[in-house]
Amino acid sequence: MKKLSVGILGATGIVGQRFIQMLEHHPWFEVTWVAASDRSEGRSYAEAARWRLKTSIPDATAKMKLSAARPEGAPKVIFAALDSAIARELEPQFAEAGCAVISNSSALRMQADVPLVIPEVNGDHIALIDGQSWRNTSKKGFVVTNPNCSAIGLVLALAPLHRAFTLDAVMAVTMQAVSGAGYPGVASLDILANVIPYIASEEEKMQEETQKLLGTLNGSRIDPAVFAMSAQCNRVAVEDGHTESISIRLKKKASAEEIISEWRRFTAEPQRLRLPSAPEQPVIYMEAPDRPQPRFDCDKGNGMATSVGGLRKCGVLDWKFTVLSHNTIRGAAGAALLNAELLKAKAYLE
Ligand code: NAP
Repeated sequence: MKKLSVGILGATGIVGQRFIQMLEHHPWFEVTWVAASDRSEGRSYAEAARWRLKTSIPDATAKMKLSAARPEGAPKVIFAALDSAIARELEPQFAEAGCAVISNSSALRMQADVPLVIPEVNGDHIALIDGQSWRNTSKKGFVVTNPNCSAIGLVLALAPLHRAFTLDAVMAVTMQAVSGAGYPGVASLDILANVIPYIASEEEKMQEETQKLLGTLNGSRIDPAVFAMSAQCNRVAVEDGHTESISIRLKKKASAEEIISEWRRFTAEPQRLRLPSAPEQPVIYMEAPDRPQPRFDCDKGNGMATSVGGLRKCGVLDWKFTVLSHNTIRGAAGAALLNAELLKAKAYLE
C-alpha cells in the first residue's frame, strides 16, 4: 500500500518529536513535510530541534528542511502540535486550504462543530466534521482534536464506568510530568524537589473536555455528560506520565469486582478495526496496591494504554483509584495518530 504523505506543524517541539518518532515506521503514513516557527524555517530538522527522546532522529527526517508554517506546498494531512494561541490562527488556515488538521492544541477543542475525540470513547463524534464550513467547500478541509493530556487518561478510565453505572460525581487530583509543559517548559529551579500546585487553565480544560468527551452526539451538536466534577492540577518533578488520584460517585451502585471487570473487558472500535496504534487493552488494571507508577508503567501498550490501580472505598464519594497515562504518547502524539487512523478507516482521508 502506498503511504499517505503527512506533515507536522510544530515538528520541533516535545509533541512534534513524538510524532516523528511514532511515524517513523508507520504502515499507513509517511512524514514528508515539517514546519515550525520562523526561527526554525529553512534549517535542517536536526539543526533546529533540541531532540529530547531516547531513540535517534530518523535519518530521513534529520535532513528534512523546515518549511514555513503556511499551507502552500503542505500535504493534505497535517498533525498540529502548536501552542494554542498560534494554533487558533494557523489551524483554520490549513483547514481552509483543504487540509485534514489533526490537532493537539486546546484552541478549537470546545468549538461546537469541532470533534474532540478519543477513538475508544466517542469515535462517533467524528461526524461533526460533516457540518464544518471548511468541509463544505470544494477543498474539503476539516479539523479534529484530541483532549488535554490529563483528560485522556481520566476519560479512558471513566468511560467504561459511565456506560455501565452512570457517573454522578468525579473528583480528580493530578500529578503532571514536566514534559507536559513542552520544551524548555518549567525551569529546573522551579520544579526540582518541588510541587507546583497550579497549571494555567488546566483544571477548566479537564472539566469541560471530560464532559464533552463523555457527551452524546445529537445531530450536529454534542450534549455534554451531566455530572458534578472538580479537578485540581499539580506539576511534579516526573519526566513523563501524568498520575491522577480519582474519586467517583456512581448513580447505579457497583461492587469493586464489577468495576474492575468493566475496565478489563473494555475494548472498542480501534481494537476491532485493528488500528495500528491501538493498544490491545486500553485500560490495564494493576493489582499491586502501590501501582501504577510513572517510572514503571507509563510505557504500557507502547505508551497507549492507561493504567489504573488501587481501587478502594472512598469516605466521601463511592470509590477512589489511581490513573496513569503517558502524556506525550497517549496524551498527545499517539492520541492524534489514533484519531488519524480512525479517520482513515472511516474514509475521511481519501
Ligand atoms: P513545545 O515543545 O513548546 O513546541 C512548540 C512548537 O510550536 C515548536 O515546534 C515551535 O517551533 C512551534 N512554534 C512556536 N511558535 C510558532 C509559530 N509562531 N509558528 C509556527 N510554529 C511555532 O510545545 P509542546 O509541548 O510540543 O506542545 C504543543 C501543543 O500540544 C500545545 O498546544 C500543547 O498544549 C499541546 N499538548 C502538549 C502535551 C505535552 O505533553 N507536551 C500534551 C497534550 C497536548 P520552534 O522550535 O521553531 O520554536
